Amino acid sequence: MSDFVIAPPVTAAVPVLGGGAFPVRRIFCVGRNYAAHTREMGGDPTREAPFFFMKPADALVVAGAPMPYPPMTQDLHHEMELVVALGTGGADIAEADALSHVWGYAAGLDMTRRDLQGQAKKEGKPWDMGKGFDHGAPIGELAPAARIGHPEKGTIELKVNGAVRQSSDLSKMIWSVPETIAYLSRLVRLAPGDLIFTGTPEGVAATVRGDLLEGRVEGVGSVSVRIG
Ligand code: MN
Repeated sequence: MSDFVIAPPVTAAVPVLGGGAFPVRRIFCVGRNYAAHTREMGGDPTREAPFFFMKPADALVVAGAPMPYPPMTQDLHHEMELVVALGTGGADIAEADALSHVWGYAAGLDMTRRDLQGQAKKEGKPWDMGKGFDHGAPIGELAPAARIGHPEKGTIELKVNGAVRQSSDLSKMIWSVPETIAYLSRLVRLAPGDLIFTGTPEGVAATVRGDLLEGRVEGVGSVSVRIG
Protein backbone atom coordinates (compact mmCIF):
# COMPACT_ATOMS: atom_id res chain seq x y z
CA MET A 1 0.00 0.00 0.00
CA SER A 2 1.58 3.24 -1.09
CA ASP A 3 0.58 6.78 -0.29
CA PHE A 4 1.07 8.09 -3.84
CA VAL A 5 -1.65 10.64 -4.47
CA ILE A 6 -1.83 9.83 -8.20
CA ALA A 7 -0.82 6.64 -10.05
CA PRO A 8 2.99 6.50 -10.31
CA PRO A 9 4.37 6.70 -13.87
CA VAL A 10 5.13 3.50 -15.75
CA THR A 11 8.86 2.71 -15.88
CA ALA A 12 10.29 3.20 -19.36
CA ALA A 13 12.04 0.09 -20.67
CA VAL A 14 14.02 -1.21 -23.64
CA PRO A 15 13.46 -4.76 -24.95
CA VAL A 16 16.51 -6.99 -24.59
CA LEU A 17 17.88 -9.26 -27.32
CA GLY A 18 16.98 -12.79 -26.26
CA GLY A 19 14.14 -11.70 -23.98
CA GLY A 20 13.36 -9.47 -21.05
CA ALA A 21 13.28 -5.71 -20.65
CA PHE A 22 15.82 -3.21 -19.35
CA PRO A 23 14.25 -0.55 -17.08
CA VAL A 24 15.46 2.96 -17.88
CA ARG A 25 16.19 5.58 -15.25
CA ARG A 26 17.78 8.55 -17.09
CA ILE A 27 19.06 9.29 -20.58
CA PHE A 28 22.33 11.19 -20.90
CA CYS A 29 23.63 12.28 -24.31
CA VAL A 30 27.14 13.30 -25.33
CA GLY A 31 27.45 16.34 -27.60
CA ARG A 32 29.94 16.55 -30.49
CA ASN A 33 31.80 13.25 -30.10
CA TYR A 34 32.93 12.74 -33.73
CA ALA A 35 35.25 15.37 -35.28
CA ALA A 36 33.55 15.38 -38.70
CA HIS A 37 30.14 16.04 -37.09
CA THR A 38 31.61 18.79 -34.91
CA ARG A 39 32.90 20.45 -38.11
CA GLU A 40 29.57 20.11 -39.95
CA MET A 41 27.92 21.87 -36.98
CA GLY A 42 30.40 24.73 -37.28
CA GLY A 43 32.46 23.70 -34.23
CA ASP A 44 36.14 23.10 -33.59
CA PRO A 45 36.91 19.42 -33.02
CA THR A 46 39.87 20.13 -30.78
CA ARG A 47 39.64 17.68 -27.92
CA GLU A 48 37.88 19.65 -25.18
CA ALA A 49 36.12 18.24 -22.15
CA PRO A 50 32.99 16.30 -23.19
CA PHE A 51 29.62 17.92 -22.56
CA PHE A 52 26.25 16.39 -21.86
CA PHE A 53 22.54 17.02 -22.17
CA MET A 54 19.55 14.87 -21.22
CA LYS A 55 16.31 13.46 -22.51
CA PRO A 56 13.47 12.13 -20.35
CA ALA A 57 13.32 8.33 -20.13
CA ASP A 58 9.79 8.32 -21.56
CA ALA A 59 11.10 9.87 -24.82
CA LEU A 60 12.14 6.35 -25.86
CA VAL A 61 10.42 4.76 -28.87
CA VAL A 62 10.82 0.99 -28.78
CA ALA A 63 9.91 -2.20 -30.60
CA GLY A 64 9.59 -0.66 -34.04
CA ALA A 65 6.76 1.70 -33.07
CA PRO A 66 6.42 4.75 -35.36
CA MET A 67 7.76 8.12 -34.21
CA PRO A 68 5.13 10.85 -34.54
CA TYR A 69 6.55 13.96 -36.25
CA PRO A 70 7.01 16.33 -33.30
CA PRO A 71 5.27 19.71 -32.96
CA MET A 72 6.91 23.16 -33.15
CA THR A 73 9.62 22.26 -35.70
CA GLN A 74 10.22 22.44 -39.45
CA ASP A 75 13.66 20.82 -39.17
CA LEU A 76 13.67 17.41 -37.47
CA HIS A 77 17.16 15.89 -37.75
CA HIS A 78 18.38 12.33 -37.25
CA GLU A 79 21.51 11.58 -35.23
CA MET A 80 22.54 7.91 -35.35
CA GLU A 81 24.31 6.82 -32.15
CA LEU A 82 25.71 3.94 -30.09
CA VAL A 83 23.81 3.70 -26.80
CA VAL A 84 25.37 2.39 -23.59
CA ALA A 85 23.16 0.92 -20.82
CA LEU A 86 24.50 0.85 -17.26
CA GLY A 87 23.76 -2.13 -15.03
CA THR A 88 25.49 -0.63 -12.01
CA GLY A 89 26.27 2.95 -11.07
CA GLY A 90 28.62 5.01 -8.99
CA ALA A 91 30.42 8.31 -8.64
CA ASP A 92 34.05 8.97 -9.62
CA ILE A 93 34.26 5.74 -11.61
CA ALA A 94 37.81 5.01 -12.76
CA GLU A 95 38.28 4.68 -16.52
CA ALA A 96 39.79 1.22 -15.99
CA ASP A 97 36.62 0.06 -14.16
CA ALA A 98 34.10 1.83 -16.38
CA LEU A 99 33.20 -1.09 -18.67
CA SER A 100 32.37 -3.30 -15.68
CA HIS A 101 29.33 -1.01 -15.14
CA VAL A 102 28.00 -1.53 -18.68
CA TRP A 103 25.11 -3.99 -18.96
CA GLY A 104 24.68 -3.72 -22.71
CA TYR A 105 24.57 -1.70 -25.91
CA ALA A 106 21.97 -0.64 -28.45
CA ALA A 107 21.60 1.35 -31.65
CA GLY A 108 19.65 4.56 -31.07
CA LEU A 109 18.58 7.83 -32.64
CA ASP A 110 19.06 11.19 -30.90
CA MET A 111 16.27 12.97 -32.80
CA THR A 112 16.69 16.73 -32.75
CA ARG A 113 14.45 19.72 -33.44
CA ARG A 114 17.43 21.47 -35.07
CA ASP A 115 15.65 24.78 -35.55
CA LEU A 116 14.78 25.01 -31.84
CA GLN A 117 18.26 23.86 -30.84
CA GLY A 118 19.89 26.41 -33.18
CA GLN A 119 17.75 29.22 -31.83
CA ALA A 120 18.59 28.20 -28.25
CA LYS A 121 22.32 28.15 -29.04
CA LYS A 122 22.15 31.60 -30.59
CA GLU A 123 20.29 33.03 -27.61
CA GLY A 124 22.36 31.22 -24.96
CA LYS A 125 19.28 29.30 -23.80
CA PRO A 126 19.01 25.61 -22.77
CA TRP A 127 18.78 22.88 -25.46
CA ASP A 128 16.06 20.94 -23.67
CA MET A 129 13.18 21.67 -26.04
CA GLY A 130 15.40 20.98 -29.07
CA LYS A 131 16.40 17.58 -27.71
CA GLY A 132 14.18 16.36 -24.87
CA PHE A 133 10.80 16.21 -26.58
CA ASP A 134 8.25 13.35 -26.66
CA HIS A 135 9.26 10.35 -28.81
CA GLY A 136 12.69 11.90 -29.43
CA ALA A 137 14.72 8.77 -28.67
CA PRO A 138 13.97 5.72 -30.86
CA ILE A 139 16.08 2.74 -29.81
CA GLY A 140 16.60 -0.85 -30.95
CA GLU A 141 16.93 -4.01 -28.87
CA LEU A 142 19.52 -3.90 -26.14
CA ALA A 143 22.32 -6.46 -26.60
CA PRO A 144 23.88 -7.73 -23.36
CA ALA A 145 27.63 -7.07 -23.05
CA ALA A 146 27.87 -10.62 -21.69
CA ARG A 147 26.87 -11.72 -25.19
CA ILE A 148 28.53 -9.20 -27.54
CA GLY A 149 31.43 -7.83 -25.51
CA HIS A 150 32.40 -4.15 -25.57
CA PRO A 151 32.62 -2.76 -29.12
CA GLU A 152 35.48 -0.31 -29.75
CA LYS A 153 35.26 -0.27 -33.54
CA GLY A 154 32.78 -1.17 -36.23
CA THR A 155 30.50 0.55 -38.71
CA ILE A 156 27.83 2.92 -37.46
CA GLU A 157 25.40 3.67 -40.25
CA LEU A 158 21.98 5.16 -40.96
CA LYS A 159 19.87 4.67 -44.06
CA VAL A 160 16.87 6.86 -44.85
CA ASN A 161 14.44 5.25 -47.31
CA GLY A 162 17.22 2.82 -48.28
CA ALA A 163 19.89 5.46 -49.03
CA VAL A 164 22.94 5.79 -46.75
CA ARG A 165 22.87 9.15 -44.95
CA GLN A 166 25.35 8.59 -42.12
CA SER A 167 28.30 6.21 -42.15
CA SER A 168 31.31 6.15 -39.87
CA ASP A 169 33.16 3.95 -37.41
CA LEU A 170 32.91 3.69 -33.63
CA SER A 171 36.70 4.06 -33.45
CA LYS A 172 36.27 7.70 -34.52
CA MET A 173 34.58 8.72 -31.28
CA ILE A 174 36.57 11.53 -29.65
CA TRP A 175 35.69 10.28 -26.16
CA SER A 176 35.64 6.48 -25.80
CA VAL A 177 32.90 4.74 -23.82
CA PRO A 178 35.13 4.24 -20.72
CA GLU A 179 36.31 7.87 -20.87
CA THR A 180 32.71 9.08 -21.21
CA ILE A 181 31.45 7.02 -18.25
CA ALA A 182 34.38 8.10 -16.06
CA TYR A 183 33.90 11.78 -16.92
CA LEU A 184 30.11 11.75 -16.52
CA SER A 185 30.41 9.96 -13.16
CA ARG A 186 32.39 12.91 -11.86
CA LEU A 187 29.48 15.22 -12.69
CA VAL A 188 26.66 13.02 -11.35
CA ARG A 189 26.40 9.73 -9.47
CA LEU A 190 25.44 7.26 -12.20
CA ALA A 191 22.79 4.66 -11.46
CA PRO A 192 21.57 1.29 -12.73
CA GLY A 193 19.19 1.90 -15.64
CA ASP A 194 20.97 4.98 -16.96
CA LEU A 195 21.47 5.16 -20.73
CA ILE A 196 24.19 7.16 -22.46
CA PHE A 197 23.78 8.18 -26.11
CA THR A 198 27.42 8.53 -27.19
CA GLY A 199 27.16 11.11 -29.98
CA THR A 200 26.61 11.05 -33.72
CA PRO A 201 28.96 10.94 -36.70
CA GLU A 202 28.62 13.33 -39.65
CA GLY A 203 25.74 13.31 -42.12
CA VAL A 204 22.94 14.61 -39.91
CA ALA A 205 20.05 15.95 -41.98
CA ALA A 206 16.36 16.70 -41.99
CA THR A 207 13.76 13.95 -42.11
CA VAL A 208 10.09 14.24 -43.02
CA ARG A 209 6.80 12.42 -42.43
CA GLY A 210 6.80 8.99 -44.05
CA ASP A 211 10.60 8.52 -43.96
CA LEU A 212 11.90 5.11 -42.89
CA LEU A 213 15.04 5.39 -40.74
CA GLU A 214 17.13 2.21 -40.50
CA GLY A 215 20.28 2.37 -38.42
CA ARG A 216 22.79 -0.25 -37.42
CA VAL A 217 25.88 -0.50 -35.30
CA GLU A 218 28.15 -3.36 -36.32
CA GLY A 219 28.36 -6.02 -33.63
CA VAL A 220 25.59 -4.37 -31.59
CA GLY A 221 22.28 -4.26 -33.42
CA SER A 222 19.88 -2.06 -35.30
CA VAL A 223 17.08 0.48 -34.92
CA SER A 224 14.24 0.98 -37.35
CA VAL A 225 11.59 3.70 -37.15
CA ARG A 226 9.02 5.26 -39.46
CA ILE A 227 8.35 8.98 -39.05
CA GLY A 228 4.58 9.17 -38.68
MN1 MN B 1 23.48 13.48 -30.50
